[in-house]
Amino acid sequence: MADAAAASSPPVSLPLAGRVAIVTGASRGIGRGIASHLSSLGASVVIGYASSAAEAEALAAELPRAVAVRADVADESAVRALFDAAESAFGGGAPHILIACAGVLANAENLSFLAGTAAEDFDRMYAVNTRGAFLCLREAANRLRRGGGGRIVAITSSAVASLLPGYAAYAGSKAAVEAMVRGMAKELKGTHVTANCVAPGPVATDMFLAGDSAERVRRAVEVNPMGRLGEPADIAHVVGFLCTDAAEWVNGQVIRANGGYVS
Ligand code: NAP
Repeated sequence: MADAAAASSPPVSLPLAGRVAIVTGASRGIGRGIASHLSSLGASVVIGYASSAAEAEALAAELPRAVAVRADVADESAVRALFDAAESAFGGGAPHILIACAGVLANAENLSFLAGTAAEDFDRMYAVNTRGAFLCLREAANRLRRGGGGRIVAITSSAVASLLPGYAAYAGSKAAVEAMVRGMAKELKGTHVTANCVAPGPVATDMFLAGDSAERVRRAVEVNPMGRLGEPADIAHVVGFLCTDAAEWVNGQVIRANGGYVS
């Protein structure tokens, strides 16, 4: 009886089976959640990180088809090498998906207004968030697989829309990425590679919970229609959908995944 039921059930085919995804900033937080979710959808995953080797290697060991690759996204040759590793790791050639998630919020434990932002903090955020995203986007535009299933998702921030005091310089570093992605979606005409941004609101990760964050958390929860902080899985599910074939018609968009506190 059980055999007859099994014989009549439809074949299980995961939506990202056979696809290779590069996720930068995947050692911790949102990127880690995205890498795990894309893996659960069938993708082979390249886990990019800057310094958290132990965390990245542990995640790679947990997932069925995954490798950890150290690559500072602000370093042009490291980004090239990250894509080289994606091409060779699973024997399938050009990768299908880039998730540009690596990012920093300088001085996260003690946010300052623009008037008090050190030039070094500005430089660090723009080096990782803006130059780093640019280098990854450029590599993806040249090297992702053509002809279907090609996906670029940059993780920006709902701070671009909320412009809350304390986030002005950081929001600028992400606004530039949103402009680049919306422009490149048009430039990729004919490739069937889509390019979108997912812009989280506050998510419970090291970045948002840095320092004495109790008051910051209280305020974020209070203004949120869902009455809570986001979790990495909230963002990963949106990114996962954008990576599927069902999402081809979503292109050049910024999706603010934040529980509805700002649009
Ligand atoms: P997180 O927990 O601090 O993790 C940051 C990740 O980025 C880590 O994997 C880190 O790698 C990596 N990274 C940092 N600098 C890098 C560099 N130069 N090269 C390569 N990788 C680098 O942060 P998160 O909260 O998950 O944030 C992920 C993304 O979401 C960021 O782009 C952030 O701006 C954005 N975001 C976060 C929130 C939030 O509330 N958490 C809200 C909106 C947007 P190592 O572990 O090796 O350092």
